[in-house]
Amino acid sequence: MITSFVPFHPIAAIATTPQAIEILHPLCQQIGATLYLQNTVNTLENTQIYQGSLKDHLSTIWSQNKAFIFCLATGAVVRLIAPLLRDKSHDPAIIIIDQKGEFVISLCSGHQGKADQLTQLIAHLINAKPIITGASNSLNLPGIDVLGVPFGWCKGQGNWTQISSLIAQGKTVQVIQEVGSTLWQNNLPNNHPFYFGFPDINECIKPEGRIWISATQRRFSEKSNYPKVQWHPRVLWVGIGCVRGTSKNLIERSIHQVFKQYHLAIDAIAGIATIDLKADEIGLIEYCQKQQLTLKTFSPNVLKMVEVPNPSAIVEEEVGTPSVAEASAICAAFSSEISASLIVSKQIIKSENEGTVTIAIAQSKVEYTNRIGQLYLVGMGPGSLDQMTPAAKTAVNQADVIIGYSLYLDLISPLKRPEQIIEALPITQEKQRALRAIELAKWGLTVAVISSGDCGIYGMAGLVLEELQKAGWDGTIPQVEVFPGITALQAAASRVGAPLMHDFCAISLSDLLTPWEVIQKRIEAAAMGDFVTAIYNPRSHTRTEQIVYTQQVFLKYRDPQTPVALVRSAYRKDEKITVTCLQEMLRFTIDMLTTVIIGNSSTYRHNNWMITPRGYNQQSEKE
Ligand code: SAH
Repeated sequence: MITSFVPFHPIAAIATTPQAIEILHPLCQQIGATLYLQNTVNTLENTQIYQGSLKDHLSTIWSQNKAFIFCLATGAVVRLIAPLLRDKSHDPAIIIIDQKGEFVISLCSGHQGKADQLTQLIAHLINAKPIITGASNSLNLPGIDVLGVPFGWCKGQGNWTQISSLIAQGKTVQVIQEVGSTLWQNNLPNNHPFYFGFPDINECIKPEGRIWISATQRRFSEKSNYPKVQWHPRVLWVGIGCVRGTSKNLIERSIHQVFKQYHLAIDAIAGIATIDLKADEIGLIEYCQKQQLTLKTFSPNVLKMVEVPNPSAIVEEEVGTPSVAEASAICAAFSSEISASLIVSKQIIKSENEGTVTIAIAQSKVEYTNRIGQLYLVGMGPGSLDQMTPAAKTAVNQADVIIGYSLYLDLISPLKRPEQIIEALPITQEKQRALRAIELAKWGLTVAVISSGDCGIYGMAGLVLEELQKAGWDGTIPQVEVFPGITALQAAASRVGAPLMHDFCAISLSDLLTPWEVIQKRIEAAAMGDFVTAIYNPRSHTRTEQIVYTQQVFLKYRDPQTPVALVRSAYRKDEKITVTCLQEMLRFTIDMLTTVIIGNSSTYRHNNWMITPRGYNQQSEKE
């Protein structure tokens, strides 16, 4: 099963005809979906049988699945699901595949239910055309109702339908972003409809709606003809001090009271902070569990270092720090050396029989995503998309952020979604690329790092893992998955026949990261050992002598007529293939887009093909 489909699980698929089974059965195995068949149809491995009508069966499994795939007429599906639909934020993704498997249609819950994304992935997998009818997709804009999902933002109140429809009509919509990541703004198309900030009086721009991205709770009228929506990045850390035995209810009421008083959004809470003495405070633990909030605790030694507006000598005497609520809020909001500010100083709420709570709120510069980051190290193959594995394609499409060299990002552009953040870095900045990927994954994002060919062969996989290890990685968080790809030596070999049929090796002539003496030793050993040898990075503008040296070493051990393939830009538009021999090879263009394959002593040429016999014993048969 392709693991990158896991975020869509559980998926149910329904087939009622033999053609539908033929399409859905293999698909379900690949994506890990359950295939349901009516009891009249033959039983198949890995399928579930249902009794009675499909309508009844659907209502039984409706709420247990995040996505449904039908291979049925669109009209029939519409009638079947109509009574079960509720609203955008609850309905599962509904996808239809036609009986010939030519089209995959995103029918319902395109954004929040991720039907558009799943449609695109399945279409790639079965080589069909994805049909996505949502307006933002066609405008190449991120869906406004899923904008903050990668960053863990909470969707707040507002007229979401009206704002989406304004955007679809190309009307100007104002964006006022007070907190949270602005990465989403970096990849908007040129003609996007957003106006950032407040227009100047002299400007004749007239926005027709507004998107707030803030920690403030705003109340909007549903009927306003200036529709507004709000996203709440989770930037508020609530510091809490309380007397032993304070009830969960008092804690909850107090937080709500303070948030209301200061017009703050409960949805913007990143987590709760306190002194480590309170790590077992029952009311506090119950509150965090109920709200699914992280509880961060700090020792008095750490807390007493923090400068706070309202220190207390009495508290200091009791617990060893003059501040619990204010200091712990500031400590929790402090992230990777970026300071945090207190936005609500200490508030004390007493109840006669439920205890006493002290609350302070600090705002952190970076939002808490509440997600476990993922690093996908992806090999995209030599160039054309049909040489990329389905698993690698899915990984790229799934990621929140795609990082890679711009040429490769262009090649994979058909797999991209409008919501994705693309970070192209120059070819020389591999280490920066690796560090950036790690930083974003640690923060909770799903990051795909793209290499050409295989990512573990002179690619980014090693660099990223090395940097992770240096940063004290525990091997599990962020989660890492490596997606292999067809490497240049395989791609080049396939274009000239079967030169790699016997023992072979790869040598990169780039001495940027490897001392030239080491490379020299390996060239000598490969030549002496009669390995078929694939040369990566053979010649650059400034590094021209290494390939000459290589040829000379090989000439010491091999016949000058030994076949050599020069394959430039395999599987790309400007592909060029030359089959020549060891003696002649330097008469042709060899550059950084070329892979050189030098045959072994039994490799022979037949027209423009290069063949290395499977065994040395067959040599006599050839001759
Ligand atoms: N990770 C890549 C290799 C990167 S090193 C892989 O597994 O293929 C870069 C070198 O790979 C280039 O200098 C060239 O020698 C070779 N290369 C990469 N893509 C190629 C292609 N499409 N055709 C021929 N050679 C290629």
